[in-house]
Amino acid sequence: MSSLKGKVQTVLGLIDPSHLGYTMTHEHLAMSYSCCYYPPSSGQETLSEAPIEMRNLFWLKQNPYSHKENLLLHQETDAVKEELLQYKAAGGGTIVENTTTGLKRDVKTLKQLAEETGVHIIAGAGFYVGATHSPETQAMSVEQLTDIMVNEVLNGADGTNIKCGVIGEIGCSWPLMESEKKVLQATAHAQSQLSCPIIIHPGRHGESPFQIVRILQEAGADISKTVMSHMDRTIFDEKKLLEFAELGCYLEYDLFGTEFILYQMNPDIDMPSDNERILRVRMLIDEGYEDKVLIAHDIHTKNRLKKYGGHGYSHILENIVPKMRVRGISQDKIDKLLKANPRQWLTFK
Ligand SMILES: [Zn+2]
Repeated sequence: MSSLKGKVQTVLGLIDPSHLGYTMTHEHLAMSYSCCYYPPSSGQETLSEAPIEMRNLFWLKQNPYSHKENLLLHQETDAVKEELLQYKAAGGGTIVENTTTGLKRDVKTLKQLAEETGVHIIAGAGFYVGATHSPETQAMSVEQLTDIMVNEVLNGADGTNIKCGVIGEIGCSWPLMESEKKVLQATAHAQSQLSCPIIIHPGRHGESPFQIVRILQEAGADISKTVMSHMDRTIFDEKKLLEFAELGCYLEYDLFGTEFILYQMNPDIDMPSDNERILRVRMLIDEGYEDKVLIAHDIHTKNRLKKYGGHGYSHILENIVPKMRVRGISQDKIDKLLKANPRQWLTFK
């Protein structure tokens, strides 16, 4: 794809990679997470229906998926716009908005936000987890799925001419579903045609990232242009993590700002704190993987916005970067995580 080679594709068109600036590689600006609603535990039904207020913010922070309205981030375009402007004022340049089919992707709104804020926004092609695949999607062949993703990058997504600049987040569960496996194979085939960046949402199990990389490799994917998201909640054992890092994909710590006592999606997981994330990132840098680490917030519910008492899109720039310096990560390395690595990943080969 000679016209894309050496460029980054935003919702407003191709840009030179040197214009990206500080980049969050896994965020959402307009989506619905209704697919993943968790009924509240008994006795908490009233909280689940109540309007979002100061008095229920702590509960909401711990149970974000048990509040129906909290899952409707797409209702907050005005607040998101304001918070994108704050992100820009804090030094932010680019957001990878990797909402895919199944999460109510809205590339028109992304284009409007990019125009109104001047923040570069990169949209995602492909499909979220199998639970959101329509019967039509489930029935498709790998070739048909490939064609859809290639078309979303070359011609535009959701019936528009607004083009995606990455494939993903591609949703995977644990255990992996049959239609998710087909989508992974199609992702590899589309990437072979496009030489584009891809980004994966692994299942909530330490073996899931290994299984995904195996399937991608067998289908011919370029693992060096692949991001494994959500490492913070997926591989805890240090030895296992370093073994995974050897496979050569990007390791993304993208849940900055999320601290749970009980993680609804998998109660067996101890969600790390931001301080623990920083130490993990420092360990990976010390072990020689500074070219392969990415960080982000993965904002996907209303309570993560400043409007609802959350940290917003500038949390990493405002709060995490200064703490990283306190923990001995040099500005040089921080710039790698936030500028050079995203630039390297997002540039079409
Ligand atoms: Zn996400």
